Amino acid sequence: MYPASYHVHTTFCDGSVSPEEMVRAAIGQNMKAIGFSAHAAWPFATVWHLPVPRYAEYVAEIARLKTAYADKVEILCGFEADWIPGVSAPDRSVYAQFKPDYLIGSVHYVQPERTRMVPARANGQRDGGAPSLLWSVDAGAEEVQTGLDAAFGGDGKKAVSAYYSAIRDMVRSCRFDIVGHLDLPRKRNGKLRFFDETAGWYRRELKETVREIAGANLVVELNTGAIARKAMDAIYPSDELLSLLRHAGVPVTLNSDAHAPGDLTCAYDRALDALRRTGYRELSFLTETGWKAEKI
Ligand SMILES: [Zn+2]
Ligand SMILES: [Zn+2]
Repeated sequence: MYPASYHVHTTFCDGSVSPEEMVRAAIGQNMKAIGFSAHAAWPFATVWHLPVPRYAEYVAEIARLKTAYADKVEILCGFEADWIPGVSAPDRSVYAQFKPDYLIGSVHYVQPERTRMVPARANGQRDGGAPSLLWSVDAGAEEVQTGLDAAFGGDGKKAVSAYYSAIRDMVRSCRFDIVGHLDLPRKRNGKLRFFDETAGWYRRELKETVREIAGANLVVELNTGAIARKAMDAIYPSDELLSLLRHAGVPVTLNSDAHAPGDLTCAYDRALDALRRTGYRELSFLTETGWKAEKI
């Protein structure tokens, strides 16, 4: 087993250092591979995404580093692409112009079911329907609660079900490589307790989602980012979800979702323990020529 992370953020989005500093840190920590995954919502961007005018510069910089450090570490260029239906899709065709080595598909924003469009008025004017509210699942606890109240009337079951429904839609509709932090709603549940992780409906959501992923030839990441950023003292996915993934034969890779050099392999020992506990015997590593499984 060699340490790698294909989920790394830099100052091109919301990370703390440049890609080159991350590469140097990866070499210092004896990593064999580092993949950059700038937050992307092409052709849009929020403050924490790669800004639209900087895509070319990002791709060129990672390409430069690939060559400059070729004998020391394998470097890959990817995106953590948002799934926001009608806005942004983690699909190869969408990002083809940037020739990424891989795409991580993540859901950070969840839309409530669309409210019914207001019918055309008698005078021919049309209301645009209710404004589309987005629940920011990955935000701080306060914002997660505010969004939950605004978009789902505070109904945690409705909100979490909508999240997994969005994941399944993404898996069905997009061609990408890695499913990002699959059970992200857990991140603030320790503090906010807005849903019961042992409830039957929650387990059904997980099972249905695993079925969809298993049929799509995707790799799921173990993501230790919540530990590094002290948002939750656990990895994604939970042991229960990992067990379901293993029974369904879904391969997994190990990522740190690092935003700082010190977090490049944060809590990897805990992630490996979780893999062994849930019966996994190998991890998948991404190379220029595709996925390769290694015994753990
Ligand atoms: Zn993410
Ligand atoms: Zn990330």
